[in-house]
Amino acid sequence: MKINLLELHPDEFKELLLRQVDKKFRIKQLLNWIYVHRILDPDLMSNIPADFKTFLKKEFSNFIPRILDKQISQDSSTKYLLELEDENRIEMVIIPREGRTTLCLSSQVGCARNCLFCATAKIGLIRNLYVHEILSQVFITLKELQDRKLTNIVFMGMGEPLDNYENVLKSIRILQHEEGFKFSPRRITLSTSGVIPRLNDLADSNLKVKLAVSLNSAIQEKRAEIMPLTKQYPLAELKKCLLNFRKKTSYRITFEYVMIKNFNLAAEDSQALIDFIGDISCKLNLIAWNKVDYLPYETPDENDIRDFLKAINKLSSAVTFRSSRGADINAACGQLAGQYY
Ligand code: SAH
Repeated sequence: MKINLLELHPDEFKELLLRQVDKKFRIKQLLNWIYVHRILDPDLMSNIPADFKTFLKKEFSNFIPRILDKQISQDSSTKYLLELEDENRIEMVIIPREGRTTLCLSSQVGCARNCLFCATAKIGLIRNLYVHEILSQVFITLKELQDRKLTNIVFMGMGEPLDNYENVLKSIRILQHEEGFKFSPRRITLSTSGVIPRLNDLADSNLKVKLAVSLNSAIQEKRAEIMPLTKQYPLAELKKCLLNFRKKTSYRITFEYVMIKNFNLAAEDSQALIDFIGDISCKLNLIAWNKVDYLPYETPDENDIRDFLKAINKLSSAVTFRSSRGADINAACGQLAGQYY
């Protein structure tokens, strides 16, 4: 099988190609076409000699997922349905905000973690995405944005990124590499439901990336009810793991808390949240649960949100209530299910 041009790290290109081309600068030219000009078709790489083009066409694939559907929200977030080479489908969302544009991308087709409030979970895990499938979402976004700059990337689309650890880390390394996409580490966020062994690996990996943890309840039994992985990876251990993570890494952790009506907004919930995150240097992102028709939960009303915000106001962490974008086109957090549902 041919290797996709977006599957390789610049160092791998060098190792593989040094035997094929006589001059090092040819490899630089190739990397430049891919990551700077965003051209993957060797025929369009004008300064590359014919025999190198022939070699590239023989050894590498330049497949990019097809855009099957594109829906634009009233708030101008745009959701893309993409078809992969094996006809599996994933979704990504481009979210423009004042002064920045964020890509929310997928790391798996479906997800194995079965969080009860999330639409993607209903699909189950179909498979991990390859590096080129993760990066092609960035590639397509850069093309779609044309002159506008892509400022942030969040691994918050379909899938649990830490369950596709190797490919996600390699993608981030290519995104950040000087001869790759040259993305600043501060602008990439990996969001996880809390897979402790992989979080420990990430802490030791030397990779610079921002971390978001989907907490959603700081009470063991409650969290286990909506996030079954909590039974395997209990909150007390997650906390130890995150304190250790903070010692080894430079960025503050962001906790995400999906607010679910009549479930995680009572006094015991705010107190548990304060106890859990109060001594970690972190940010807290509150998100109202976005409706998924076939799930038995309810979105909180304004009073619920206000009361909860009041109850946690003694936290010294920076607290933000994030209004969800793209809800009218099912593009908001937790609503990505492709056309599987
Ligand atoms: N698996 C990773 C990344 C994907 S989910 C993780 O769990 O972090 C991205 C975020 O969307 C998580 O914080 C999750 O709790 C949240 N989410 C899932 N379903 C949601 C819904 N219906 N409404 C609002 N947020 C939701």
